[in-house]
Amino acid sequence: MTLPLSYVHPTPDSPWGTYLMQVDRVVPYLGHLAKWVDTLKRPKRVLIVDIPIEMDNGDVAHFEGYRVQHNLSRGPGKGGVRYHPDVTLEEVMALAAWMSVKNAAVNLPYGGAKGGIRVDPKTLSLKELERMTRRYTSEIGIIIGPQRDIPAPDVNTNPQIMAWMMDTYSMNTGSTATGVVTGKPVDLGGSLGRVKATGRGVFVTGREAARRINLNLEGARVAVQGFGNVGSAAAELFAQAGAKIVAAQDHTGTIFNTRGFDLADITAHVRDTGGVGGFKGAEPMAGEEFWDVDCDILIPAALEGQITADRARRIKARMVLEGANGPTVPTADDILADRGVLVVPDVICNAGGVTVSYFEWVQDFSSFFWTEDEINVRLDKIMIGALKKIWDTADRHKITLRTATFAVACERILKAREERGLYP
Ligand code: NAD
Repeated sequence: MTLPLSYVHPTPDSPWGTYLMQVDRVVPYLGHLAKWVDTLKRPKRVLIVDIPIEMDNGDVAHFEGYRVQHNLSRGPGKGGVRYHPDVTLEEVMALAAWMSVKNAAVNLPYGGAKGGIRVDPKTLSLKELERMTRRYTSEIGIIIGPQRDIPAPDVNTNPQIMAWMMDTYSMNTGSTATGVVTGKPVDLGGSLGRVKATGRGVFVTGREAARRINLNLEGARVAVQGFGNVGSAAAELFAQAGAKIVAAQDHTGTIFNTRGFDLADITAHVRDTGGVGGFKGAEPMAGEEFWDVDCDILIPAALEGQITADRARRIKARMVLEGANGPTVPTADDILADRGVLVVPDVICNAGGVTVSYFEWVQDFSSFFWTEDEINVRLDKIMIGALKKIWDTADRHKITLRTATFAVACERILKAREERGLYP
């Protein structure tokens, strides 16, 4: 009876196609809840907006923006906003759906949502960026709100952009609505620990997974793709635990040093130059060679679809920690599983960011703020507890951690769906 969606045309390796296949794989583990599974295969609500802004030279430019609410059965929508020239509706739909799964996997009282603008923000002045952000916030203002849908940072968005979003929504509603976005500056109701929370979650799940496969972090070799918010914070924590960051890749280049980088030096270089390319403490290498690097841990922390079947055959790591959303296509997932490479999937591995976003939202409502230690202790507890439940599920059914995470999460979402019932 249910026809496929007419407005997207996924392929097996595209983000929405990847997500659909991940859902199909979980159906055998859903029991009677499988009857509701089509609800996961279509977003609840899709908003496409036109964002016209006046450029500094007086011209008018138009940008295409999206906000997708994938599933709201367990609570308000929650998920980031991405600024990137390759953003498409299909990509935002997949990112929103992965948020539904992620939020349920760590048992946060949220549904899943995501937003984005098709733009290369590096081509805009600061004032143009602000005007675009404010107009986008006004346009999606009809569906967001502290109890409805709460955006946060993602690729190329940051605390300053969240501050503009919070201010715009507050002006439009005549209130001070700190709870409308998370990832804000700390003096505007942001949470301590939020900036590094996603990287911290990658490290905490990685440390637990390493323990289970007897991989000693002391001296372990780590390769990181993407040295932004997620990749750099994860690299820093692995280095503090005694691991060596031997390779890094971002949009400016690929670098390698068998002895490991000095984290303070590379962080300063990225801050000053905008990327890892040209870092003096390492050798440059061709981009494709990144996937052949001898390492124990590989952290994709850039964009989707990076681990293709061909690259999966070449990866030397014992463990892949998915800091990025959707970095591994399904065929590559199977190859890694056959080769015995452990994949800690995005939907649990990078859930640290949204978990501290949840803490931020709770703190905003109570106007009472926690210390960074309290944040980190609570974050670690949630991540470790969620991973344990997922690992037990994987062992029980003899399935991958990805399918186990989907099993735990989709059961929670569909149970809520069933308990709420269909309206009317
Ligand atoms: P960011 O903008 O801070 O960093 C993105 C990084 O990816 C940069 O280092 C950039 O140079 C690199 N990159 C971009 N294109 C690339 C390419 N073609 N090849 C190699 N590197 C490339 O973004 P971020 O917040 O660190 O997000 C990274 C990933 O983590 C995304 O998939 C995002 O959805 C996911 N994620 C982010 C958060 C968060 O809290 N920020 C939470 C969960 C998941």
